[in-house]
Amino acid sequence: MALEPEGNNRLLQDVLARPGNDACADCGNPEPDWASLTLGVFVCQACSLLHRSIPHISRVKSVQDTWDASEVELMAAMGNNAAKAKYEQKVPAFYYRPTHTDCKLLREQWIRAKYERNEFEFIEKQEPYSAGYREGFLWKRGRDNGQFLSRKFILSEREGALKYFNKQDARDPKAVMKIETLNATFQPAKIGNPCGLQITYLKDNSTRNIFVYHSDAKEMVDWFNAIRAARFHYLQVAFPGASDEELVPKLTRNFMKEGFMEKTGPKHTEGFKKRWFTMDDRRLMYFKDPLDAYARGEVFIGSKENSYTVLAGLPPSTQGYHWNHGITIVTPERKFLFACETEAEQRDWIAAFQRVINRPMRPQEYAVEAHFKHKP
Ligand SMILES: [Zn+2]
Repeated sequence: MALEPEGNNRLLQDVLARPGNDACADCGNPEPDWASLTLGVFVCQACSLLHRSIPHISRVKSVQDTWDASEVELMAAMGNNAAKAKYEQKVPAFYYRPTHTDCKLLREQWIRAKYERNEFEFIEKQEPYSAGYREGFLWKRGRDNGQFLSRKFILSEREGALKYFNKQDARDPKAVMKIETLNATFQPAKIGNPCGLQITYLKDNSTRNIFVYHSDAKEMVDWFNAIRAARFHYLQVAFPGASDEELVPKLTRNFMKEGFMEKTGPKHTEGFKKRWFTMDDRRLMYFKDPLDAYARGEVFIGSKENSYTVLAGLPPSTQGYHWNHGITIVTPERKFLFACETEAEQRDWIAAFQRVINRPMRPQEYAVEAHFKHKP
C-alpha cells in the first residue's frame, strides 16, 4: 500500500535524523532544511541557493515540501556521510573548508570544486594549488592612487616567497613577500570586489597590505589555496613533528575584528581622530583608510599575566570631543584610549581584546612584544 504524502515526509524526518545529516553537507551549519535530490545531500538554505547556480549538477528541494517515496529513497541511499566519503575523499589537509560565516565566493567555490569539478576525487585536478609553484596575473590595487592594475605574481615554495612585478619585462620583483609572515584573507566588502583578497606580510617588523582580485572566482580561490599550501609546507619544516591539526589553523588567519574607532595620542591631549582598526591576533593596527598599504601604528596586546588590561570607559580627565563609548587598554608602558560610535561596537571590541588578554602568551609572542614599537 502506497504511503500518504505525510507518511513520506515522516520517513524523510527519519533520514534527516541519521548521523551526518544533522549539519549542512557544505558549510556545517546545524539543522539543514534543504536537500539536493541529484547529489543526495542535506544542506542549509544559504548553500541551497548556491546549488541553484549549478542546475546541471544539483536540483534542490525544501524538506518542508511534499516528497514522494522514490525521492525519500534517493536521500536514504546517499546522505551527507556517504557523500562526504565520495566527494571529499582526497581534500588536501591545507585546503580551506568554508563555514557558514565565510564570504559567498569561498562557499560557492567549495561547492563547485566538490560536485561540479570533482577536484577531490581526482588529484590531478589539484595541480593549480598543489604544485608548489604558481604564476599569473592579478589585479592589484595601486598603493597611493587606488587604481587596480594587472600585475604578474609568482608564488614559489622553493624560494619561500610570493613576488610581484610592476613591468611585464622587469627582472626584479617590485616586492618579495616571505611565506613565513604571509597571511591572506578574503575581504570582498572592504575591497569592493566579490573576489577581493587581502594579502598581508611583515617587512622590517611592520605590517604591509596589498589588495588583489581575479575576475575568475576559481582562479582567485586557487591562489588562496596555493598560498595555504606554501604556508603548510613551510610550517611542516619549521615545526617538525607538529600534527596537521596543529598546523592547519596557522595557515591563514581571519581578522578578529575590524572597524572604525577614534583614538588619541600618548599625551591624551591631542584630540581624538577617527581611524580604521584591524585586530589581527595580538596586533591592533590602525589606518587612516581601510585600504592603506601600511599601518599608521600598531599596539601589541599581551596577556593579563603581563599587565595588559582592557576597561570600558575613559579616564575622568579625558579632554576633547569624542564618540560616546570609551575603551581604555592598559599596557606596561602606557594607556591607550579609544572611543566607539555605538555601545554594540564597544562591546565587540572589548570582547576581542579580552580574548587575547585572557590567553597566556606563547614564547614566540614575547619576541614580537619585545620588537614592538608602540607608535603614537
Ligand atoms: Zn550550508
